[in-house]
Amino acid sequence: MNSLKIFVNSLDNSLKCAICRADIKNNTNIYQSEHNFGIVCSNCCQKFSINDIEWMMKIFLAYGGYFAELEDQNFSLERYLCNLAEDLIKNEKILDINELNIKFIHEILLHGITIQEYQKKLESFLK
Ligand SMILES: [Zn+2]
Repeated sequence: MNSLKIFVNSLDNSLKCAICRADIKNNTNIYQSEHNFGIVCSNCCQKFSINDIEWMMKIFLAYGGYFAELEDQNFSLERYLCNLAEDLIKNEKILDINELNIKFIHEILLHGITIQEYQKKLESFLK
């Protein structure tokens, strides 16, 4: 898979970043996947690895939303995990572990938590 960092000379003012939905108005280094029509702003290119950008574009395409859409200072990953576990037990739901992992990742991205931050929090939560 080859992905490109591209330079755009003239952009339509209505273009929005596929990750954070920021307006992309000026000439800047942006990213466009070979597998997706969405483009990613320079801020997100600096903040995230290309691998993470590819993942996020797929997750937002499949499940909707965007990075930090539901950003909330009071969001607690630990509380979210506990509530989800209680819900699964109460309703006797059996979910595929991959499905559960993608559900977690989608939720944390909506709350403005990066995949690396999620991994660190999950490691400390499991200790
Ligand atoms: Zn962005």
